[in-house]
Amino acid sequence: MERVELSSKPNLRTIPAVEKLLQALGPTELPRPALVAVVRRELAALRSEKAIPEFDAVAGRIRETVENLLRLRLQPVINGTGILVHTNLGRAPLGPGAVEALRAAAENYTNLEYNLNKGERGERAGYLEHNLAVLCQAQAATVVNNCAAALVLILRHFTQGGRKEVIISRGELVQIGGGFRIPEILEVSGAVLREIGATNKTSLNDYAKAIGRETALILKVHRSNFFMGGFVESPPTAEIAALARKRKIPLVEDLGSGAIAAVDKIASVEAEPTPAEVLRAGVDLVCFSGDKLFGGPQAGMIAGKAKLIAALKREPLFRALRCDKLIFSALQATIDAYLAQKGDIDLPLIEMLGLSSENLSARAQTIVAGLQGLRVKPLVGEGKGQVGGGALPRSTIPSVTVDLFPREMTLADFAAKLRATTPPVIGYVGGGKFKIDLRTVFRRQDEQIVQAVREVLR
Ligand SMILES: *Cc1c(COP(=O)(O)O)cnc(C)c1O
Repeated sequence: MERVELSSKPNLRTIPAVEKLLQALGPTELPRPALVAVVRRELAALRSEKAIPEFDAVAGRIRETVENLLRLRLQPVINGTGILVHTNLGRAPLGPGAVEALRAAAENYTNLEYNLNKGERGERAGYLEHNLAVLCQAQAATVVNNCAAALVLILRHFTQGGRKEVIISRGELVQIGGGFRIPEILEVSGAVLREIGATNKTSLNDYAKAIGRETALILKVHRSNFFMGGFVESPPTAEIAALARKRKIPLVEDLGSGAIAAVDKIASVEAEPTPAEVLRAGVDLVCFSGDKLFGGPQAGMIAGKAKLIAALKREPLFRALRCDKLIFSALQATIDAYLAQKGDIDLPLIEMLGLSSENLSARAQTIVAGLQGLRVKPLVGEGKGQVGGGALPRSTIPSVTVDLFPREMTLADFAAKLRATTPPVIGYVGGGKFKIDLRTVFRRQDEQIVQAVREVLR
């Protein structure tokens, strides 16, 4: 065995070692400058260690680092978690119309800011905003980067005058996913938080008492990622809206998930308020995410009063939060998929939500049949799917899983090996088995699951 000689002292063969290692590693998918950087970094790390390993061990270690780095590339994965809107897994998969539109916009010039009727500079997203307003049954609508950005824009707009206070119920001071806390969003927006009520109880009178000369806005936040049961009370949006109107205070509701379809009719889940319902109840503006239950790309939709939407679009901050042509193209197609709907809505998320247990069971049986004779016991199991992404926290959706008991491997090792296949398969461990929930797996991926498990057990 050949040894790589490494030392912190200058003049010892570090440079040849890099070349030699690159040769030993052979071709990888990592672009060469990135590969060289990895090798250099690993060698630098070795220098600080006392014993220098054999050349092969060094090469092996670097190869593993390279593979780990390559696995960080953004790539498709198979979502076997049963969580439809999984923020870690990129939330909503796009529908075919959106994908086609995205591709066309990506590889061509577009009329992004060009008015084809007049042959001159035009406004962004005119068509999209028109149809989004129709979909939300609103006077007007617009779109920014995400729902967090929509909230910041709205809060900044209403608090830039003398009035800084934003009234919000203590029960709605929520944290949504990683790094999104309503109080912090308020703070960065320059708003002063005026908390009212108790965590579990806020009355209309609490709102009425809090309104004063400093009040800029009443904010309602849809409690989307948790459910409070028992001794809870909060006034319905319509009552707060009537109060806000009487006292001439704007009312904004952050809906979060933004369901357009009647999800409770598609699956056995609780109803989710739609933007149109919230606007009908009398709020001035509503905002919601594009990539949660809505089923589109990452975006923050805002709908409501025309005058307010126009004012938001005049904010300098609006320019910093605007979307690009790729997002607009995918979003426009998603909005039109809802508007053009005759029978079923042609969006993967909605389709997955409505998959029947019989359909999923049949697929599970086919997968299980494909996994016979391996060092794993495959069974059809039961799962509890979820919408996720801060929507319908109370509802689980009965689902069907493929349950795997590997015979000669721990469940953690098995899960790690499945994460290393192409495409990676992400499942979960429950009840002493590795489970893949088929509700969030596309039918076209069933065979890929069989191949992945075969590869892992080979
Ligand atoms: C998810 C969520 C947000 C954040 O939306 P992003 O589009 O991820 O920025 C804000 N408010 C509520 C209520 C949410 O559920």
